[in-house]
Amino acid sequence: MRFNQFLKETLDHRDDDHFSANMNTPLRENAFDISDNEKIKLIEKDVTNILDTLGMDLTDDSLKGTPKRVAKMFVNEIFSGLNPKNMPNPSTFENKYKYNEMLVEKNITLYSSCEHHLLPIVGRAHVAYISNGTVIGLSKMNRIVDYYAKRPQVQERLTIQVVKALQDALNTDDVACVIDAKHLCVNMRGIRDIESSTVTAEFGGTFKKPDVKKEFLGYLNLDATF
Ligand SMILES: [Zn+2]
Repeated sequence: MRFNQFLKETLDHRDDDHFSANMNTPLRENAFDISDNEKIKLIEKDVTNILDTLGMDLTDDSLKGTPKRVAKMFVNEIFSGLNPKNMPNPSTFENKYKYNEMLVEKNITLYSSCEHHLLPIVGRAHVAYISNGTVIGLSKMNRIVDYYAKRPQVQERLTIQVVKALQDALNTDDVACVIDAKHLCVNMRGIRDIESSTVTAEFGGTFKKPDVKKEFLGYLNLDATF
């Protein structure tokens, strides 16, 4: 009986599938025709409408600032990675120390938002590359993860976008990214599984080779089963 209930819930949530084959965030061509300030004003009205429809009293002291606060948060913070003007400048350097081994930056804090429910995705990203003559500042790797995370996202696409951005910056295919994250849309609603987390991985260039992949995953204490 419990299994049937589980199956039913799973089927009921099949539209929740966090799969997307396209690595580009689906943005309209005219996405930036209006300014951030204009967006904030429009979203403020929209949030007012949602709360009002839900029956909230927006004259209450605690609530009256909420629509504007949410609108500013959407545009300036949690969805600021939609706008290419906020893309971090991936300053790179010549590899003077001739370090030709793998560089791994692990446990990068990740906050994103699921584009199916607009609820948080919280986890860690682990990024690695093997230099072919160019190196990148370590904090830039965090910033690239953060930039792509600050969009309505699906985890698969985020993983691929991080790899692609670093491949472009470092001028090499030899980049990999693993993301391990909890999706609050799975944890706090729907199937309400508090424990589960989702792991996605993208291995570029030489990282596709089993021994290189194994070395990378060894640094993360994950085994090479994916
Ligand atoms: Zn979701």
